[in-house]
Amino acid sequence: MNNKEIINLLHKSGELSKELWIKLLESYTDVDRTYAAKLARKVADDVYGKNVYIRGLIEFSNYCKNDCYYCGIRANNKCVDRYRLTQDEILECCNNGYKLGFRTFVLQGGEDLTYSDEWYETVIKSIKEKYSDCAVTLSIGERSRESYEKWFKAGADRFLLRHETITNEHYRSLHPENLKLDNRIRCLKDLKDIGYQVGCGIMVGSPYQNMEHIANDMIFMKEFQPNMVGVGPFIPHKDTPFKDMPAGSYELTLFLLSLIRLMLPKVLLPATTALGTIKDGGREEGILSGANVVMPNLSPKLVRDKYMLYNNKLNTGTESAAHLDMLREKMKMIGYNVVVSRGDYKFEQK
Ligand code: SAH
Repeated sequence: MNNKEIINLLHKSGELSKELWIKLLESYTDVDRTYAAKLARKVADDVYGKNVYIRGLIEFSNYCKNDCYYCGIRANNKCVDRYRLTQDEILECCNNGYKLGFRTFVLQGGEDLTYSDEWYETVIKSIKEKYSDCAVTLSIGERSRESYEKWFKAGADRFLLRHETITNEHYRSLHPENLKLDNRIRCLKDLKDIGYQVGCGIMVGSPYQNMEHIANDMIFMKEFQPNMVGVGPFIPHKDTPFKDMPAGSYELTLFLLSLIRLMLPKVLLPATTALGTIKDGGREEGILSGANVVMPNLSPKLVRDKYMLYNNKLNTGTESAAHLDMLREKMKMIGYNVVVSRGDYKFEQK
């Protein structure tokens, strides 16, 4: 089978064998990538039309107990100027975001143990009370099922927890011993079971990753059926053990976005900040490759440069209407509309 036939098979059946995944990923050309992008964009248009959903990202704490080797805010990085936002500051971000047209707020942070379950419950409830037409997404790492249940009851709608890699030996080369792949997957399963719209995902070109690992990730994602998938290139951070590792491939990231769209037609798929960071216009090309979500930053200006997961992170301020207008304009230019909507996953109509 040639690559075009493999892509057609994925389009038609929504899955591939491990062998075919590896073959496709190891031998794709620009022509294959463009072909997959075209098909993927058509699939996304059929499900979500010309809509692009925006999510307001609020990076509320850069304290983290973990020491992931790739991440700029890892516990052992002493160069980080640590901060925590107060509840009022978080609500102020939502207030600004709401006025700009955001209807989803993503609370992302390191695994900061000073926040109790109750603290999160209060924040979630206050956001949902004030902005009842908005969705709240959490991206705060691994917790107990009980905590996840409490926050769901408090009104949280979605949860992002990239699995990072489904291959245990690869997981081990990215994380210290105390972090276990099994627990991360347990979290994802619990979240789904509780009723969250759940997102998993990987970094493309993370150190020691090979195409077999990515093939395993694709097969895992097919089986797990996430509602969202976060996929962006790995970008080294100067104060981490991976500082000298090369960044992930821009083209492979775009190709994977397309393949994920073909495999999971209804998935909510962001063109990530990391993609826009490694290449100007990356997020637009991400949309044209099958993505349908963009996650601009709503964090207060003063803390922006402190939430540095990787070097040169895009500082696309959307705190001002002007910046969001620019994003709208960029999307318009490629034929897409940034919409004022929660942008939920399209579940099967019962
Ligand atoms: N603490 C939360 C949020 C992590 S930050 C959690 O554990 O889920 C969100 C994502 O950023 C991570 O899942 C990781 O995939 C990505 N990330 C971290 N460091 C990165 C780097 N150097 N380059 C690219 N992406 C990175």
